[in-house]
Amino acid sequence: MRRPDILNSLFREISSLSGVGPRFQKLYEKLCGPRVADLLWHLPSGLIDRSYRPKVASAEPGRIATLLVTVLMHRKPANRRMPYKVVCEDETGGLDLVFFHGREDWLNKQLPVDQKRAISGKVEFFQGRPQITHPDHIVPESELEEIGGVEPTYPLTTGLTPKVVAKTVAAALGDIPDLPEWHEKRLAAQEGWHSWQQSIRAAHTPQSRMDLDPETPARRRLAYDELLANQVALSLIRNHHRQTKGRAFIGDGSLTDRVEAALPYGLTGAQRQALGEIRADMAQPGRMLRLLQGDVGSGKTVVALLTMLTVVEAGCQAAIMAPTEILARQHLESVAPLLLPLGIKPVLLTGRDKGKARQAALLEIAEGRTPIVIGTHALFQEGVEFRDLGVAVIDEQHRFGVHQRMMLADKGKGVDILVMTATPIPRTLTLTAYGDMDVSRLDEKPPGRKPVKTVTIPDNRYEEVEDAVGRQLANGAKVYWVCPLVEESDVLDVTAAEERHRALAQRFGADRVGLVHGKLKGPEKDKVMAAFAEGDLALLVATTVIEVGVNVPSATVMVIEHAERFGLAQLHQLRGRVGRGEKPSTCLLLYKQPLGDVAKERLKIMRDSEDGFLIAEKDLELRGGGEVLGTRQSGLPGFRLVEPGAHRDLMELAQNDTRHLLTIDPSLDSERGQAIRTLLYLFERDQAVRLLRSG
Ligand code: ADP
Ligand code: MG
Repeated sequence: MRRPDILNSLFREISSLSGVGPRFQKLYEKLCGPRVADLLWHLPSGLIDRSYRPKVASAEPGRIATLLVTVLMHRKPANRRMPYKVVCEDETGGLDLVFFHGREDWLNKQLPVDQKRAISGKVEFFQGRPQITHPDHIVPESELEEIGGVEPTYPLTTGLTPKVVAKTVAAALGDIPDLPEWHEKRLAAQEGWHSWQQSIRAAHTPQSRMDLDPETPARRRLAYDELLANQVALSLIRNHHRQTKGRAFIGDGSLTDRVEAALPYGLTGAQRQALGEIRADMAQPGRMLRLLQGDVGSGKTVVALLTMLTVVEAGCQAAIMAPTEILARQHLESVAPLLLPLGIKPVLLTGRDKGKARQAALLEIAEGRTPIVIGTHALFQEGVEFRDLGVAVIDEQHRFGVHQRMMLADKGKGVDILVMTATPIPRTLTLTAYGDMDVSRLDEKPPGRKPVKTVTIPDNRYEEVEDAVGRQLANGAKVYWVCPLVEESDVLDVTAAEERHRALAQRFGADRVGLVHGKLKGPEKDKVMAAFAEGDLALLVATTVIEVGVNVPSATVMVIEHAERFGLAQLHQLRGRVGRGEKPSTCLLLYKQPLGDVAKERLKIMRDSEDGFLIAEKDLELRGGGEVLGTRQSGLPGFRLVEPGAHRDLMELAQNDTRHLLTIDPSLDSERGQAIRTLLYLFERDQAVRLLRSG
């Protein structure tokens, strides 16, 4: 089965739209994704009202106005620092248009002398005369109506201007298919929903701020499309998983007992309980699909290791997949000392391994010479064959998609799956993000963990923070210094971190201050991390790359700049990097003043609590759940139209709707079922459609 033709226009590259040059494709890919559909799901975040149409003499300063003027003359600048001015007027008075670095030929073409032009932009006064600097629109009189209305504005990325994006969206809206309705008539009527086509149009043509609200029928409908596609796909996968034969793995304890005995600690009650649940699943002939939820530092790794060894005892291979190379390497380092005495040499496979090293690793995996494989997403690439994979453990799952989970499961026959996440999320969100999985929770921390003292400090006391860090360093402490995200831009991010690194290196010594960020190549990153963990580096400046999993127990201080910009879940994850050793730890949250009430409340929660579940719940209350899963924007990772706070009811609805649908039409053959297939293709959940055939 292939994608329905009706979707073709939505699957074209954005640069195929008329008026969009090929050089924009890369920028759009970064902004929203490569396809026209991705652009259509990139919804406006604001609007500009250009309907204010005064005469020049009555134009109020500071307001966006649309004016009809006649061009009088061009005044070229005397030197390069002066702006180019175009003098205009209407019957009430004069207006200057101001251009810095204006190009003369272009301006002459846009604004020929003696011609009328419609202009839109912000009116300001300079030396008593009204002027508009770099007008947003300059068009012939005949196009006045086109620019003089309400204009949506979009989240942008460097290189794409508001005008270009608005124009591209308009081009996309000009040619959108009328798709078959996949929602039930009764629900659509009750909610006041229109067709997909109409809803997309409405979402992109807001008339007032109210139309930008996630609660509008158009936005709710689009969110529900996404939720339903996701839920149906997850359920199909789940059903497929249940139907395909699994295998019963029963360990004899020959390996796990020895590892447990070798651990320098005893397992917590929660770890024992979770292991019991996992082993019971694995002993059944059905396939395991279980989520292990446990806060940062709750000890998931050892549970994963014992799970894997149980399968190894039963004669099969086990794999664990981490979201980053750093984490994969850390897993290797933490489990290797426990495995080597058992005669097991775990193999590492990451995207970085090339040529001979990769071939050697692949051979070991394919021949089953190693029962334990640790890696990144490289594990499910083509060419990776297991001799006999029994269980796949997926760590820190929220970075992976369902699609990828399935690929790893396909590497063996009846593979059991254990997904581990440090994100404490409420049940509704669990169902939306993971589907109907069995859940084990590590709700008890290992004993002897020292609480992290958290302090909030306004940024005008920055000097004190540096001084305090200096004292800690003098006492031999290891310190993380986290730099914030700057407007979602990785480039700016890195620049901010680099600047901070330079300043701190100057003060504390270049040999003691390191820097890691997402742009560093794997080996460089590892080198810095290793130098921080064991070497001379005492202060590590970092972006949020250290958010997940990084383990340096000797680190006892964390400074987070602009803490108010982070999500609570993210702050909690970050803070979890300290407080891992014997010594007491401190977390300094620097914030920019003034703080709003909600921001104050949020930082207070961080100060008062170290309980990930409590923090997640409070966050959900305060922010409508936007960040519960640890993303910085509102929304669920992997979803673009859903806002967990506003659309919570739709999540439950999608769960019930899906259950009902798949009960009466499990192979999606009915008219609605067929439309749902189109929906699955639209959201690229077609892996699930394929299961309808094979399952
Ligand atoms: P996470 O759940 O964040 O992945 P880890 O598995 O990395 O947590 O465990 C964090 C730390 O706690 C590790 O240093 C680990 O050795 C230690 N640990 C795990 N289980 C226990 C336990 N039962 N008692 C004491 N320490 C433990
Ligand atoms: Mg972990």
